[in-house]
Amino acid sequence: MSISLTALNTLGLNQHCASLVEVTSKNELITRCIELYQQQNPMLILGGGSNLVFTDDFQGTVVKVSTTGIVIDQDDDFYYLTVQAGENWHHLVEYCLSREIYGLENMALIPGTVGAAPIQNIGAYGVEFNRFCHQIQFLQLDTGKLVYFDNDQCHFDYRESIFKQQLKNLAVITEVTLKLAKQWQAVTNYGPLQHLDPATVTARQIFDCVCHVRQSKLPDPKKLGNVGSFFKNPVVSIDVYNTLKTRYAALVGYPQGDDHYKLAAGWLIEQAGLKGFNIGDAAVHQEQALVLVNLGNASGKEVCQLALYVIQTVFNKFGVRLQPEPRILGSAGEIDINE
Ligand SMILES: Cc1cc2nc3c(=O)[nH]c(=O)nc-3n(C[C@H](O)[C@H](O)[C@H](O)COP(=O)(O)OP(=O)(O)OC[C@H]3O[C@@H](n4cnc5c(N)ncnc54)[C@H](O)[C@@H]3O)c2cc1C
Repeated sequence: MSISLTALNTLGLNQHCASLVEVTSKNELITRCIELYQQQNPMLILGGGSNLVFTDDFQGTVVKVSTTGIVIDQDDDFYYLTVQAGENWHHLVEYCLSREIYGLENMALIPGTVGAAPIQNIGAYGVEFNRFCHQIQFLQLDTGKLVYFDNDQCHFDYRESIFKQQLKNLAVITEVTLKLAKQWQAVTNYGPLQHLDPATVTARQIFDCVCHVRQSKLPDPKKLGNVGSFFKNPVVSIDVYNTLKTRYAALVGYPQGDDHYKLAAGWLIEQAGLKGFNIGDAAVHQEQALVLVNLGNASGKEVCQLALYVIQTVFNKFGVRLQPEPRILGSAGEIDINE
């Protein structure tokens, strides 16, 4: 195990892999991945490493996706941006803004690559990736074919897509096409954006506000290793919500359709008294309970032990089971956090 992954994951976990290839063209990405799949060599497709927890050294090949390229097309009503998987997401948001193509500004400063964005349908400040997804191009490993999926075929949901379900470990996303309306509409109905007037606000102002709030709220992975929110916000039935609301008047929840509520996982963790709690160098962030951080020399196993402790403590108090958001990587591939 010779190649260090420490600089390639935002938690800064000190693990290694057997081999690493960095691909800079789509053809190379396709050829390499087909080869590795046929050799039945464990393979990990890596973007920015901002949604991964390595619990062990990886006994296979890490394929670092560094493909670049953005092509803009348009019709009367829309811009269509076809973006290579290795492009940095935040750079894409800035690129669009500088060309007066609006819509992505609420998702500014989400770390990672464009190719990873559809996997968990990234989202922030009231907007999710699927709002703009026109088409995904991916290599299907078991057939060796390039496939195109439209938005519906991706089965997007909150932090979910077909790429985490039926196509888990079978799809290498090569290219993403976004569809952005020329008639821009501001989305300001979420938390810290609510003070902005949707009738007069500009996309640049939303971008600046999102960047400011994120920089003041979330620890910078370069200074304190983390993967952003470690848990999804749990969605519960209205009955569960009402029971909890009777017991905890300050419970934070957002209606999801008629009969479900999304609870704020950070609030549950904080109320369970876990802010700042640590196991070794893995800790619940002092200011932002939804974020688990590496205080220096945490191992991935400690991060997972801490996550399991948080899940159990919150369950004991509220009867609600939290689910981790990042993918957990063992020596030969993705594992369940309980393994
Ligand atoms: C400080 C911080 C803040 C964050 N804030 C948010 C937020 O607001 N909203 C949000 O949704 N997420 C957030 N995240 C999580 C993370 O940024 C996203 O999940 C992002 O999309 C991960 O991109 P990546 O390139 O780093 O993926 P990686 O971590 O490299 O990979 C994640 C998973 O996707 C797979 N993968 C990556 N690229 C491809 C590809 N081309 N084809 C197939 N599979 C692939 C990997 O194998 C892995 O399973 C945050 C993370 C951090 C560190």
